[in-house]
Amino acid sequence: MATEAKKIRAGWYETRSKIVRLVILGGSGAGKGTQAQMLCKHLKTPWISTGEILRKAIAAQTELGRQAEPYFTKGELVPDPTMIEFIRERLLLEDAKNGWLLDGYPRTAFQAEELDFLLDKLKQRLNWAIWLDVPKSVLLSRSLARSREDDQPEIVQRRIDLFHECTMPILEYYERSERLLTVNGNQPPEQVHQEILKKLSLRD
Ligand code: AMP
Repeated sequence: MATEAKKIRAGWYETRSKIVRLVILGGSGAGKGTQAQMLCKHLKTPWISTGEILRKAIAAQTELGRQAEPYFTKGELVPDPTMIEFIRERLLLEDAKNGWLLDGYPRTAFQAEELDFLLDKLKQRLNWAIWLDVPKSVLLSRSLARSREDDQPEIVQRRIDLFHECTMPILEYYERSERLLTVNGNQPPEQVHQEILKKLSLRD
């Protein structure tokens, strides 16, 4: 595929005008949060992490938190309708007008399709889906090395299994529409960051 055509399809010219809409994909422990925050700082764009938002919503016992809690605590996915509605409301907020980076969303192919459907209605488009490629064994050992309360071994294992079941079709979805950027996530964070920046600029 000619690079020029690929750039046009992925909305690259919109990217250059600084409105950047991205999703970052990777298993639990792939370094999504770290990379998302580095990238948002670089691009000066809001970081929207569904995991972090749900964690706070549960602590504060908001309506969203109450709906999500039974799933969240078991490492299960929160049902699509709850997540889709949440994302719709979040992307309508003022700070999301000039771009964003979604971390933890989409988690299912249905969420990915619904995101495109929503963006279509808003006359916006997703520029790229960044896939942090990390072997399953590395994901497991990294996740277990963290000390979050919801990172118990069975829950971590469940998340990784769920990830492979549900998230792989998302990669295919973005690959088909030529918006997938695959990055080697099994290297030091700064190197991963540099690889993302390089691939986002699509230098020949
Ligand atoms: P994370 O911090 O991204 O690993 O997310 C922690 C938990 O939040 C997951 O195990 C799910 O229960 C829930 N969650 C986060 N994002 C989503 C999503 N897009 N769809 C469904 N559940 C989600």
